Amino acid sequence: MFDALVLEQDDAGKTRSEIRQVDNDFLGEEGEVLVAVEYAGVNYKDGLCINGLGRLIREFPRIPGVEFSGEVLESRDARYKQGDKVIATGWRIGEISHGGYAQRARIKADQLVPMPASMTTRQAMILGTPGLTAMFGLQALEAHGLTLSKGDDAAEVLVTGAAGGVGSISVALLSALGYRVAAVTGRIDASGDFLRQMGAHTLIARDDLSEASARPLESERWLSCIDNVGGQMLARILGQLSYGGSVAAIGNAGGNDLPANVLPFLLRGVNLLGIDSVFQPCEHRVAAWERLAAQFPMEKLETIVTEINLGSLEETSKAILKGEIQGRCLVCL
Ligand code: NDP
Repeated sequence: MFDALVLEQDDAGKTRSEIRQVDNDFLGEEGEVLVAVEYAGVNYKDGLCINGLGRLIREFPRIPGVEFSGEVLESRDARYKQGDKVIATGWRIGEISHGGYAQRARIKADQLVPMPASMTTRQAMILGTPGLTAMFGLQALEAHGLTLSKGDDAAEVLVTGAAGGVGSISVALLSALGYRVAAVTGRIDASGDFLRQMGAHTLIARDDLSEASARPLESERWLSCIDNVGGQMLARILGQLSYGGSVAAIGNAGGNDLPANVLPFLLRGVNLLGIDSVFQPCEHRVAAWERLAAQFPMEKLETIVTEINLGSLEETSKAILKGEIQGRCLVCL
């Protein structure tokens, strides 16, 4: 028997969570690999699932948790053997199958990534989906022309939603690679020092970019952008990109509507690049994790992380929905 956070739905359709003891049978037979979960992350999506919002989970009971890292206990697939360290993110685990908020998880081998040699399960899950997605965002910007040589002393790469998980990891990654980073945040007072520690060169108040501009094209301010916010702010940023610059559009914390003007595309050749980490093919994930292991400044992870246990997950899930979490929350199983 082992501990798990289990979601149930009552007859009125209301979701509630409880921590209880379950056994391997609870996990079902689907999935060739049984993993002893060591760490799981807490994402915005987990906030939605635990609080019964967004109808992401349709079948109950369900163990949520969209990502985890741990050690293989049993495997029916030749690619994995007992004792291997593994990472699981994406594929809607924790929504359409049981996820990481338990001490055991059963998962398909195709959905796992082997742990890079120099990375620990703890480092992997502090980075988690935000780290993987930040790397996909960076790779998309690079594929569309972002290079260090394009920068001069004044040119900055912009990161929005910077104090959150994807944002803070993006700031640390870009800055470690040598880019000059501008970080947009709604909480300069509370998170300014943290963002400077992550490597931000310039702090921009969210309000400075929240309003629509009267002009569809403003002065060219940013080489490129990793955007976690969307909405009006994204529309504004498109009109401030340098010629040929790109936005890696990752998140929608600021809303789904995009009231954009076509002129930045027509007159400055800017690119709007959608990033989806959930269904990226496995070979891309393996390459991205290996690059994170090689290039992410791991010493910054201890500043990014707050550790919690299953018991405080419900409270944390509410805080992440309100945008109150700085950096990353790590559930230790
Ligand atoms: P977090 O909740 O950790 O961070 C989101 C940040 O966005 C907040 O910290 C806050 O930053 C900012 N923010 C919150 N609300 C608003 C608002 N109303 N207007 C403007 N800014 C706001 O989430 P994550 O970093 O984990 O994820 C960021 C986004 O990316 C989410 O929308 C998530 O769903 C999405 N995502 C997408 C993935 C993909 O594959 N495309 C993968 C992972 C996440 P600050 O306080 O600094 O302003």
